[in-house]
Amino acid sequence: MHNDPVVRKYTSAGRTTVYKLPVEAFPNHITNCYLVMTDPVTLIDAASGQESSNASLLDCFARLRAEFGETVALADVKRLILTHGHIDHFGGLHFVVEQSGAEIGIHELDMSVVRFFNERLVVSSKNLQIFLERAGLTQEKTGKLLAMNKWSKDLFRARPVDFTFDEGPLPNSPFGLYHAPGHCPGQVCIQLDDILFTADHVLSHITPNQSPEFIVRYTGLGHYIAALKKIKTIPGINIGLGGHEHAIDDVAGRVDASIAFHEGRLEKTLNLCGEPRTVAEVSLELFGERKGYHVLLAFLETGAHMEYLHERGHLAVVNVEEVDEQPNPVLQYQKQ
Ligand SMILES: [Zn+2]
Ligand SMILES: [Zn+2]
Repeated sequence: MHNDPVVRKYTSAGRTTVYKLPVEAFPNHITNCYLVMTDPVTLIDAASGQESSNASLLDCFARLRAEFGETVALADVKRLILTHGHIDHFGGLHFVVEQSGAEIGIHELDMSVVRFFNERLVVSSKNLQIFLERAGLTQEKTGKLLAMNKWSKDLFRARPVDFTFDEGPLPNSPFGLYHAPGHCPGQVCIQLDDILFTADHVLSHITPNQSPEFIVRYTGLGHYIAALKKIKTIPGINIGLGGHEHAIDDVAGRVDASIAFHEGRLEKTLNLCGEPRTVAEVSLELFGERKGYHVLLAFLETGAHMEYLHERGHLAVVNVEEVDEQPNPVLQYQKQ
């Protein structure tokens, strides 16, 4: 991740001021929240809600007042829009609401992450368990990765949201919303004049982590690539402001680069399956030996690519008799 720790000011073509607040959501993990000086004052994303993250958010407000001569404080925020249901973006919403009384909105497909946080984590963990067993992992390793996946379970208290949205203009605001699933089911990119807040969908340097749709609906590489193509067609965008990293001068160019990156990885994945291969075997070839949480990320990324190829008939499961006979066998994929 290429963090940019500087508070920055942008002005949209319609003369609306935007401040980038680089909040240290977790150690060395900066989430860019954006303060938009609309009426009502709008904050896009709330970082993680960890004590240090909340302190960092307040510090960003202090810096913007000192550096840009503003008087605005967190207490002035009256609307909080969450770009997607990942803890480094929505976890701070309790703190923002306590400080400001802001109304909270999120896409309808990610609302349940906030409202039924524990339920969604537990249910998706069951799907993850089945995925890891089919991927060819031992029970012991599967248990370890499942425990890691639940690292965020104590970080957030579920609560209702005030409004949800899908796509199109957000009422009583200058914002246009574009649903961009794949990295997260209910992720949105938000247009303000010539600015596109790209969330984690398009970032300046990296491409966001992918995960198979088998585990959570509306994730997966198919949705992600389709949503990249959709975002590229939005007219009149001069700058992209992502949920992490630096501003993006050429959003369409970054979209093309992100698609090309995944096409390259798809080709590599397919070529590794000349012989029958499991997700675990392909993941090891693609990413080598990873440690800790990165093992899980590598499996999910590999699984998303193999799922995409399998759904489109480029890979087939070749141990069908075994699959037919056993409750949840390891799947062997081969290039077709
Ligand atoms: Zn994310
Ligand atoms: Zn993120």
